[in-house]
Amino acid sequence: MSKFAIHLSFNVISCEGCGIKRIRGVPCADCERRPEPWEVDSAALCRRQRAVEAQQILAQAADQSEHRELGAPEFLHAEVYAALHTWMTGFFDAVSAAAESQEGAQRLKDSVTELVGLRAALHRADDRRPMRQLISALRGLIAELESMVGAYLETLLASTPLQAQNHGARAQRHLDAATEAITRVESVSEAVEILTHQRDASRTQAQLLQLALGSAQQPNLLALDSWGRDSLWEITGSRGTAGHGVFFGICRVIAQNLFNDGQFCYVLRRAYQLFSSSPKSS
Ligand SMILES: [Zn+2]
Repeated sequence: MSKFAIHLSFNVISCEGCGIKRIRGVPCADCERRPEPWEVDSAALCRRQRAVEAQQILAQAADQSEHRELGAPEFLHAEVYAALHTWMTGFFDAVSAAAESQEGAQRLKDSVTELVGLRAALHRADDRRPMRQLISALRGLIAELESMVGAYLETLLASTPLQAQNHGARAQRHLDAATEAITRVESVSEAVEILTHQRDASRTQAQLLQLALGSAQQPNLLALDSWGRDSLWEITGSRGTAGHGVFFGICRVIAQNLFNDGQFCYVLRRAYQLFSSSPKSS
């Protein structure tokens, strides 16, 4: 995802205390002289008012906000994605417009309302298996976008360029995290697609192997086996034998994307302890 920055203008006047240029309505950074009561930056006040209104919408609880109706679970990912894609461009336009003029105010509120609506819809979505991890990944993505919106609104509220810069940097970090969240959503969605729609067992196997290679970031089967056996050693204290690493890699990618990765590793460790502790077990 690209970089985005809001351009804010601050009204500058000469300080009556020390004579340097300083921001209207804010104590002087050099001589600390308080601003005069008549010194109002009306443009900045209006900008802040627009941000506060949008903040109130963002603060609505997920179960209290209006929500859009989502379609069938199998189309959920595509639907939320399409909505977010349009939303993203719209939000950046709206926040830039709101930074400059009153006309942007309504667009900003509409844009925040849309995100809050999507969040509410995902909050209500059926998150049972096999959709649990996908819904959870989409919720994680929306949470990052919400934090990003919050930080951009703080940027609009800033009374000095330095404050604006700090909030802007925080917003950019959330935007970067949202990009990572998208990668996670893509991976889960791919696994759900393979395991719920692929009817040809041999293709399922090949696709799962491909997914495991990608997830473990290994170039070929030998490398995947070696990586898998190292991971096995970390979980159980045993590297198993040749081939166990590939099998583990496939099981792990299914656990990560459809079930519960922590639980999977726990059960694996307990099972290994159980079988290896009994001298009579074969
Ligand atoms: Zn001064």
